[in-house]
This record gives sequence, C-alpha cells and structure tokens, in this order.
Amino acid sequence: MSSELTGRLAPSPTGAQHVGNARTYLIAWLMARSRGGTIRLRIEDIDSPRIKAGAAKQAAEDLRWLGLDWDGETITQTDRVALYEAGLESLKQREQVYPCTCTRTDIAAAASAPHVGQEGPPYPGTCSHRTVADAASLAAEGRPFAWRFRVTESPVFTDLYAGKQRIDLPSLGGDFVVWKSAGTPAYQLAVVVDDAAMGITEVVRGDDLIPSTPRQLLLYQALGLTPPVFAHVPLVVGVDGRRLAKRHGDTRLSALRESGVKPEELVGLLAWSCGWIDEPVAITASELLPLFRLSAIPQRPFVLTAELLRNIGYHA
Ligand code: GLU
Ligand code: ZN
Repeated sequence: MSSELTGRLAPSPTGAQHVGNARTYLIAWLMARSRGGTIRLRIEDIDSPRIKAGAAKQAAEDLRWLGLDWDGETITQTDRVALYEAGLESLKQREQVYPCTCTRTDIAAAASAPHVGQEGPPYPGTCSHRTVADAASLAAEGRPFAWRFRVTESPVFTDLYAGKQRIDLPSLGGDFVVWKSAGTPAYQLAVVVDDAAMGITEVVRGDDLIPSTPRQLLLYQALGLTPPVFAHVPLVVGVDGRRLAKRHGDTRLSALRESGVKPEELVGLLAWSCGWIDEPVAITASELLPLFRLSAIPQRPFVLTAELLRNIGYHA
C-alpha cells in the first residue's frame, strides 16, 4: 500500500487560510485525485507560540468548503513528538547533528516552514566543532542548545513542475536546525518524519519552499528513508508582487465564505489562473478532475486583484 500514489494537505494553524493557500491545496488535491491517488490531511501545529486557537478546525472547514476531501485520520503534529524524537536520536547516533548554543533568530523560527523572506543569513558554523557527546556537559552546565544538521552536500533534484533545482545549501542557510533549544522539533525534521511515516509519495507545495527540499532530501538520506517526489508551484501574489498577506486586504477563505461567495466561484477563478479553463466561471473541484494538468499552470505567480475578487462577488 505504501507505494501507492499519496499526496497531502498540510495547513499550519498559525493563522487563517487565504486564497493563496487555497490555490496550492486545490492543485495538491487534483494532483492526487485526478490519478486515483490517496490524499491525507496533516495539521502542522508544532510552532506553539504562533498557533491560533481554532485555526486547525477552521482550516479543515475551509478545505471542505472548497470541495476537497481526504482519506483516513487527520494527523496532528503535536501528537507525534515521540516520532520526531526518535528521528533526532537516529541522527545523533550517526553524528549527523551537533549541539548549537547560539541564540539566533533562525533557531526561534525553525518550527515553521521558511517562506519567502524568512531564510536567515547562512549559519557561520560557530558550533560545528562540537560532537553529540558534548551535549552532556552543556546540559550539566544548564546551557540551552539546539541541534543542527551538518550539511555536507546540496542534493540536486528534479521537480515535477519546476524542473531541475540546484540550491547551494552552504550559501543559502548552511547547517540547519532540526531541534529547537526549547526542546521541540523543527519543521524540516517533523515534515520528513511525517511524510515518510504517512507514505507520502508526492509533495505539492508553494515554490517558496524549494530551498527546504534539498535539506529534507539530506534528512531522508541520513534517516535511511525513501523521499517523495516534489512539485513546487507558483504562489499567489498581490498587485505589488509580494506573497499574499494581510496587507492585500482580507482574502481569508472564512471571510469569502461569510460574505456569501460560492466555493465554485473561487475554484473557477483559481482553475482559470491555473490554465485549466478559459474563463473564470463557476466550477467545482470534482469537475476539474478531468481538466487538471500540472504543466498548464503558468510559470509566474498569479496576481490576485481586487477586481478579480469583485467578479466572484467579493468586496474586500
Ligand atoms: N505547513 C506548511 C505551511 O503551511 C507547509 C509545509 C510543506 O508543505 O512542507 O507553510
Ligand atoms: Zn551555534
């Protein structure tokens, strides 16, 4: 069963899901469902200080409103910390991580996926002389430390949508955090442990996460796990060309829903933006199954304007 085509929807309940998230979820869902695949839902809630009450439930409602479904139990990352701990242990046994006592913002931020503009400067390797055994004396001294993964190479990978990707990890971020000094897992480790355990064969997500993929490939290798294939798709941006955010007005799916927008109107707008239909007309996610083509999606970000939203009956 585990080799069966399986995709996933992985919302972070750090805020409300907006039109940009919806486009990626729609693509991910169609990618799996149009070929008879399975799709799983995983709530990525390990970034505890940023998690908003009720946002996980809201995300599931948003997905259902869009007409997307999923198989099996919903997976919640905070229930699975023991699995991530086991992953960390196995990295320690292989001396692939070292304790880092630097107090840097990248350690604080490591629990969430690094989206556009959230990649810090490369780690200078200050603590890389340390070995796993050094952790004992740091702990005895009461010094907090994070665990960093030793980057030895930058795996090249072929993205199903974006083609061949060469990211130079040493100049991008260098050794990266897999476990925070607060004693909790980082995004990169949790996502790899989960995607492997859940039998995910295809990961579809926004192209601002391309730089995370070679890091995740290093973790798959280090943990002896088989990686999925990846499809990174362009984001939705505002008229200023920046990733959709609050500054672009209220594009939360819950706001659209409450103002009476029909899901098929939004799905139609997104389907048109992806090149599957010629005009932004109402259509359901299921009706898109035979029309879906990953390669039809334009290579540039989709610019969401107030006018396009007005045309589906939404006045932000
Ligand atoms: N939960 C992440 C996000 O919403 C997605 C990360 C991923 O797809 O790997 O930013
Ligand atoms: Zn350090």
